[in-house]
Amino acid sequence: MCDEYRVNGDKFRVDPNERTVKNTEIDQQWADWLAPTRRSMLFGAGAAAIGLTLGEGAARGEDPPASGPAAAFLALNGPIKPYISPDTGVSEWGYETLKQPTARPKGLWPGTENGLPEKPRPYTDIKSYHAHFYFDQDTFEKATLIRRWAGERFPVELGDWNLTPRGPHVTPSFYFGFTNDLLPIIVPWLQLNSLGLTTLVHPNTDDPRADHLYYTLWVNRSQPVNAYNMKAPRDKDGKARVEKILPNVTPTVKLEV
Ligand code: ZN
Repeated sequence: MCDEYRVNGDKFRVDPNERTVKNTEIDQQWADWLAPTRRSMLFGAGAAAIGLTLGEGAARGEDPPASGPAAAFLALNGPIKPYISPDTGVSEWGYETLKQPTARPKGLWPGTENGLPEKPRPYTDIKSYHAHFYFDQDTFEKATLIRRWAGERFPVELGDWNLTPRGPHVTPSFYFGFTNDLLPIIVPWLQLNSLGLTTLVHPNTDDPRADHLYYTLWVNRSQPVNAYNMKAPRDKDGKARVEKILPNVTPTVKLEV
């Protein structure tokens, strides 16, 4: 069963089960025109006329001879053949997957497992923040500078250097934790002083997976975070244990204002 509706005179058909919008008639005409079978038919019929302008080779469907850099590439490598996979056998998925109906997945965003949440989450669920700085063999000196600048100015909990991926962080990184009161200073400070490093600022609630995947604030660009399997740490009574911030560096430099 399809529902039909019109937009600017074009007729659309919507399948309520698949929720897909079918091609309009004009779209379908173009698709037919551009289909490979249609193009080769057109090419065959018009070959004589095309031959007048493109030459004999083109009329026979041959590529023009390579010249310049392309000729050099051809001389070095010969004609490039497509890779033909030697794999044989039956897909582990069988042959019926195309017939599978589309089911609606459950929401992954916290609180949306059964639809949109009824009310907002209290901001007071945030107990502290982390700022993670990602770097590599070309950008580690920027990380060194930001780490020193931040440690000299803010009462943060500064972690070790991680020169290899660690926890959910997939590149070398370091982090510092800070208390909520510093947020309105540290975020603008990072915006101006991150030197382009990919920087993740995340809150600490009782849900570390959500903290790293859904509640994030990124300075500059983002990068993948492998946090899907993070579990909330529990104390011995089974209560969620929220990350504590215990500052371990003492500021020695007055903040520039
Ligand atoms: Zn963190």
